[in-house]
Amino acid sequence: MTSTTSPPITREVHVAVIGSGFSGLGMAIQLRRQGIEDFVVLERGDDVGGTWRDNSYPGAACDVQSNLYSFSFAPNPDWPRTYSEQPEIFAYLRDVADRYDVRAKHVFGAEVTAATWDDAARRWDVETTAGSFRAKVLVSGAGALADPSYPDIPGIESFAGTVVHTARWDHEHDLDGERVAVIGTGASAIQVVPAIQPRVGSVAVYQRTPPWVIPRGDRPTTAAERSLYRRFPAVQRAVRGALYAGREFLVLGMTRNRRLLAPVQKLARTHLERQVRDPQLRAALTPDYTIGCKRILISNDWYPAVSAPNAEVVTAGIAEIRPHSVVTRDGVERPTDTLVLATGFHVTDLPIAHRIRGRDGRTLAEVWSEGMVTNRGAAVAGFPNLFLLVGPNVGVGHTSMVYMIESQVAYVGEALRAMAVEGLATLETTPAAQEAYRELVAQRSAGTVWLGGGCGSWYLDEHGHNTTLWPDFTFRFRRLTRELDRDNYVGTPERAPVEVAA
Ligand SMILES: Cc1cc2nc3c(=O)[nH]c(=O)nc-3n(C[C@H](O)[C@H](O)[C@H](O)COP(=O)(O)OP(=O)(O)OC[C@H]3O[C@@H](n4cnc5c(N)ncnc54)[C@H](O)[C@@H]3O)c2cc1C
Repeated sequence: MTSTTSPPITREVHVAVIGSGFSGLGMAIQLRRQGIEDFVVLERGDDVGGTWRDNSYPGAACDVQSNLYSFSFAPNPDWPRTYSEQPEIFAYLRDVADRYDVRAKHVFGAEVTAATWDDAARRWDVETTAGSFRAKVLVSGAGALADPSYPDIPGIESFAGTVVHTARWDHEHDLDGERVAVIGTGASAIQVVPAIQPRVGSVAVYQRTPPWVIPRGDRPTTAAERSLYRRFPAVQRAVRGALYAGREFLVLGMTRNRRLLAPVQKLARTHLERQVRDPQLRAALTPDYTIGCKRILISNDWYPAVSAPNAEVVTAGIAEIRPHSVVTRDGVERPTDTLVLATGFHVTDLPIAHRIRGRDGRTLAEVWSEGMVTNRGAAVAGFPNLFLLVGPNVGVGHTSMVYMIESQVAYVGEALRAMAVEGLATLETTPAAQEAYRELVAQRSAGTVWLGGGCGSWYLDEHGHNTTLWPDFTFRFRRLTRELDRDNYVGTPERAPVEVAA
């Protein structure tokens, strides 16, 4: 008997979108709006939602009011709280996917393992765990906070108890009565610790740098306001606008005049002094850098949780982890049942950058080895027909990322429109455009609190450059991306020889 194996089928599409968080979903909706139906969304998870599908740890919630942290075109009058928790945001994104009918465009369980530009065919060859795809245009919405970062602590692999990262929570594991070690004191830690502290036996929080924490002005929404928003959507839009404007004021302090941050720092200091009575603990929780240098955190229950009798803030630094304990540099050994890693994500070393190969065969990560350069956070020379969502210098700490994502999605929409109108096979940004953009970002980053605020943070790359945050008002970013800066791109018409950007 002879057996034949059929060659793997490659699906051809106009656009392939990687990821299905706010970025990928926003892009999918934009494509449909522009009448582009021939696209696919490749998502490694089993549902839409991105961040809000993956971060289901106890206490996971948004730090920006939901009236602002949501798509402008898909308001939700029914948010149950002013700052929503993870289940509500996840449900919102699933609802948006259904309302805008983009779920059927998804292939779930499709992790993109390689995307390679084929210059002869002028197509992206995309390999996934659910088959091969060939796309004219590739849009990566793979997320900047999507791949958990695991700390490299001596002995961690020998730990015999449970190890759980906040972004991959193990809901089967029962923490009741356990001795828990939480590593990290960033945005996830200050949410998870208050949620688990009342039910664990003990919790030791291993802190390297204390965060500045201000009160969380969260409350349940009332039936009256929900009904008002439903009947008069303009009211909800006005509230959104006011929230947006209020938050942009922070940019002045972060980028131009640090003295404007003094009242915010005073608020944080008073919050700490009110909630923490013990002078030793208070000292351990007091940051020694300017507020805003790291992400400003909001919580009403972080300080009470770490002040509880079964909690301890450990500042000595971890020397090693043994099978049943954590040992700090001062020689103290704390018996531990579960390690909760609240250690963040690969941000300045994006995993997807190792998987995308451009015209000369190098990966984005290789091209970026000296620093991440792009045009407007979206396009990279040598990578035709590739667009990045939430690429370098698109991050914001003071307001809603969704605002930035919508700006970028519209920009990519403009690029696709230009390609269609001009009959282009390829569209590629120029090295000169990238250099000019790098200059602009560097100039605006100079003098900001992130570089001069006396802290190290995940906002800066290994060279100390700001490659993560947009260093200006977000409306300036929107202005910059409202139209395609066509002069910064080289286009190759269909059937013309490939022209290399110079
Ligand atoms: C706990 C937490 C709280 C946050 N709170 C706020 C907040 O309050 N305000 C705010 O503005 N921002 C917040 N953020 C930032 C948040 O990440 C962004 O606001 C936004 O959700 C990013 O959306 P995204 O679609 O770009 O990325 P993501 O939501 O991360 O989605 C990326 C998607 O790509 C998929 N993917 C990645 N790699 C591949 C691959 N190789 N193949 C296939 N699929 C892939 C992932 O599975 C994921 O579904 C928070 C982030 C976290 C982690």
